[in-house]
Amino acid sequence: MKSNILIVGGSYAGLAALHSIKQTLLKTKSPISVTLIEPKSGFLNILGIPRCIIDRKFAAEQYIPFKEFLKFDTVISDDETTKKELTGSTGLDLRYIQGKVISLTPTNAAYKVGNTEGGMDFDYVILATGRDRNWPISPEAVSFESYLKEIDAVLDKFKESDTISLIGGGAVGIEISSELKTTFPDKTINLIHPHGSLPPEPVSDKFKSEVLQSLKNAKVNVLLNTRVQDEQKGKITTTVGDEIESDLNIWTNSHSNNLAYLSDDFEKFITSKNDIKTNGYLQTFPNVFVVGDLMELLTIKSAGWAIHTSIQAATNVLNSINGEPLIESKVPFDNIPAHKLTLVGGDDTIIHELNNILEINPPKLVEEYKTYRLSTTAPFLGITVNSP
Ligand SMILES: Cc1cc2nc3c(=O)[nH]c(=O)nc-3n(C[C@H](O)[C@H](O)[C@H](O)COP(=O)(O)OP(=O)(O)OC[C@H]3O[C@@H](n4cnc5c(N)ncnc54)[C@H](O)[C@@H]3O)c2cc1C
Repeated sequence: MKSNILIVGGSYAGLAALHSIKQTLLKTKSPISVTLIEPKSGFLNILGIPRCIIDRKFAAEQYIPFKEFLKFDTVISDDETTKKELTGSTGLDLRYIQGKVISLTPTNAAYKVGNTEGGMDFDYVILATGRDRNWPISPEAVSFESYLKEIDAVLDKFKESDTISLIGGGAVGIEISSELKTTFPDKTINLIHPHGSLPPEPVSDKFKSEVLQSLKNAKVNVLLNTRVQDEQKGKITTTVGDEIESDLNIWTNSHSNNLAYLSDDFEKFITSKNDIKTNGYLQTFPNVFVVGDLMELLTIKSAGWAIHTSIQAATNVLNSINGEPLIESKVPFDNIPAHKLTLVGGDDTIIHELNNILEINPPKLVEEYKTYRLSTTAPFLGITVNSP
């Protein structure tokens, strides 16, 4: 099988690229085949994970099955229902493979669907495989039903634990500890962080002290300058020998970029942080574009950047096909002047900073975070979401 354009990964970055390419092809009617390879048959708004894992109804609203907003002319899946639900004429040549790429050279991808392997040549590829995190932050489920079962299992674990410790006070640890304390006020929620302030992202000291204050107000037990040495049943031992009671530990500080499938050809583009370095057009090889969390970006990675880079890559793939000049990002990736971070602190406080200007509970973001910004990102992915 051959596809003119292959998109690997179908979350914020991959779906934004697909949507952008589709919009253009619907206008130009160019005979260009586009294939998406993604194991999940739906879009999960990862931004909402801190609330999804404590609220089943919210979790259900944050997962949009592909059948609600996508059709493909050809579907390869080991699930007959998925095949039936997603197959339909688009007027284009769109294909979906519900599986994972297991190896990729600059011209060919091998993939696995269930236990069956397949292969595909391509002219252009957009790599959008992002990153995975520890349980329960990156659900493994590939369908809506199995995702809800996974959420139920997480909730059961929370319910049976009197003390829950989040290890790592980055944005993810802060949001999960805040959500847990709001939902389970009688449980002890520890947030353990190795440094004297949090989060470690490049934000102002004022931002950090607002975050700490919001957590204290919400009665999250913040343990700064504390490193975990050992975990045993019911307790954590720190590097200075202190013991902390804990029934359930969640490591929120680590993540790994999904790039193990890349062939040795890509070695020279992989940085010490396991990001992929691209040029200003988002290319590694002239026909290989890398977007979203997978690429090297010298600022705080975000869904916004994933969408921004994908739209640029989609334009550049089509421009390459049409022999037109490629476009650079309006913001140079190696010199981003304004860092931006928004997070949900204790008691649902929205703490936002852009370019050193701090805002607490700005009304627009308070509204947007009711859906953890699903309604803001959805249009870029071709999803229509009803307001809450
Ligand atoms: C808890 C949490 C809260 C966050 N909050 C915010 C926030 O408030 N605002 C914000 O802007 N950002 C936030 N982020 C960051 C944001 O989620 C990421 O920047 C964004 O998900 C990056 O999108 P992506 O499409 O590049 O990668 P991902 O979302 O990681 O998606 C990668 C996709 O690739 C697929 N994939 C992986 N391997 C393969 C393979 N071999 N073959 C095929 N497909 C594959 C995966 O199934 C997945 O669908 C948060 C992240 C977390 C974890």
